[in-house]
Amino acid sequence: MAQPAAPPLPPPRPDLPAPPADGPGAPKAASAGPQTGPATEADTGCLERLDKLGVRFEKLSPVQEKGCKIGNPVSVSALSNTIEIAPASVMECSYAENLARWIANVVVPRASEHLQSAPTKLLIGTAYQCRDQRSGAKLSEHAFGNGVDVMGFEFDRRPPLRVKFQSEGSPEAAFQSAIQKEACSIFTTVLGPGSDDDHGDHLHLDMRMRKGDYRICQ
Ligand SMILES: [Zn+2]
Repeated sequence: MAQPAAPPLPPPRPDLPAPPADGPGAPKAASAGPQTGPATEADTGCLERLDKLGVRFEKLSPVQEKGCKIGNPVSVSALSNTIEIAPASVMECSYAENLARWIANVVVPRASEHLQSAPTKLLIGTAYQCRDQRSGAKLSEHAFGNGVDVMGFEFDRRPPLRVKFQSEGSPEAAFQSAIQKEACSIFTTVLGPGSDDDHGDHLHLDMRMRKGDYRICQ
């Protein structure tokens, strides 16, 4: 099982303000500046939550190259005891937590409802990648370990499903539309087939922070 390699934390200092929560929607303290010291309490808390969720991961050293950065990176190989992720992918710890919650709370029940199957593998295209967004203006959330492209799923009792335009009225269409729609309450950007020309074969799920918690859900 995953053993976070973080050094032991110093005893708490009651005179210091509490570290910011690192749940969804909270600002990412780790991205505020170069992080070379010991892991923060927020970082350690996130790793502990991954363990509790049954996520299989390896803790990595903070990533910083060009403008790209991940403060608390993990390489994830499974999102639960029964659902692998292929290939193993690098992401920010808080992102991994959200991905695991989406799988457990959305994908598993919807697969059971619409496909009478349980997912066994999440097929990933791009996770962390240090490249410009397609528009060229800003770095993509992939550059911060805060975005993943979901290409499809494998299941225990049916053939794999690839994300694409599914035939209307099919169980596959109902499943894909449900998991895409419900991803919007967990991630701040959800793009898939039908959003634009770039997302015809995958779901892009990211956690970009915008003013007023504005979300893009298409
Ligand atoms: Zn993407």
